[in-house]
Amino acid sequence: ESKSLGKNSFHFYSQALEKEALTQLAIEQELRKAIEDNALHLVYQPKVDLRTMKIVSVEALCRWTQQDGTVVPPDVFITIAEQTGLIIDIGCVVISKACLQLAKWRDAGITELAISINLSCIEFQNEALIAHLIDCLNHHQLEGKYLIIELTESIFMEDKFNVKDIMLRLNQYGITFALDDFGKGYSSFSYLQFLPLHYLKIDKAFLQYVESSSSSAAIAKTIIDIGHNLGLKVIAEGVEGQFMLDYIKTYKCDLAQGFYLYKPMLPDAIASIYLANHASVDA
Ligand code: C2E
Ligand code: MG
Ligand code: MG
Ligand code: MG
Repeated sequence: ESKSLGKNSFHFYSQALEKEALTQLAIEQELRKAIEDNALHLVYQPKVDLRTMKIVSVEALCRWTQQDGTVVPPDVFITIAEQTGLIIDIGCVVISKACLQLAKWRDAGITELAISINLSCIEFQNEALIAHLIDCLNHHQLEGKYLIIELTESIFMEDKFNVKDIMLRLNQYGITFALDDFGKGYSSFSYLQFLPLHYLKIDKAFLQYVESSSSSAAIAKTIIDIGHNLGLKVIAEGVEGQFMLDYIKTYKCDLAQGFYLYKPMLPDAIASIYLANHASVDA
């Protein structure tokens, strides 16, 4: 009985794996087509300055709309894109679209709004992609200070290439850097002291439990202190309610991003919210 059960469950397992492999292959093929068909677009989520509650920048987040209208979240396709090399094509699209958007907003009189983009380790190591980034800035005559690059900790475990050199090179254009999802992985403080970072983003997992777990609350508070002691601005992501907002304000976090404040939106919605936000806070 137990033997046949084991056999069955193995059979079931291998079928599931096969199905998963097929799904991955299907996603890869569809993703390749989506890139060609321009079916990827960016939504933008505002970040607010906690002292003024004004929107100071937006994070560009990639979306893939399939032919039947289904919107596939990046968590599903970024990993596959990384495994297949398609991530470079996606990065190229993301950089082009974000720079074009910056130029459009500038031309519409929205001159103080920065965009952050997420670049994975593979993307940041790709010389051609970095060159494309510079080309886009030059093409649109953009100042690099309106571009923030979000990197995750995994990048600093790669010693095959010199992350710091690339960062310093991009710094010369005014581009700044945020360390995303801080605290999520195998956080090490050692690299924080020698890398040209400007922002530290507290991983949303800590904030989510700030109300229910005293240790999460302590970690969130400590990360804010670490960031400040290193001269970095600290961003809280995943702000989902008033308690979290009050908490991070109390501990002097600099910036906040989350569904409670603003959801990721299309560029037109960003423009009107930005203008209303700046008009009302000034009044
Ligand atoms: P991330 O860079 O940490 O981005 C923040 C994620 O948190 C976004 O998910 C955002 O929609 C979500 N979020 C924002 N506010 C809240 C909140 O209040 N509560 C909760 N629970 N979540 C919130 P999204 O758009 O699904 O992106 C997931 C991840 O995919 C991103 O995490 C980023 O690592 C990656 N990603 C997104 N766009 C790109 C891209 O263009 N290139 C690369 N390489 N990665 C990307
Ligand atoms: Mg990010
Ligand atoms: Mg994050
Ligand atoms: Mg993330």
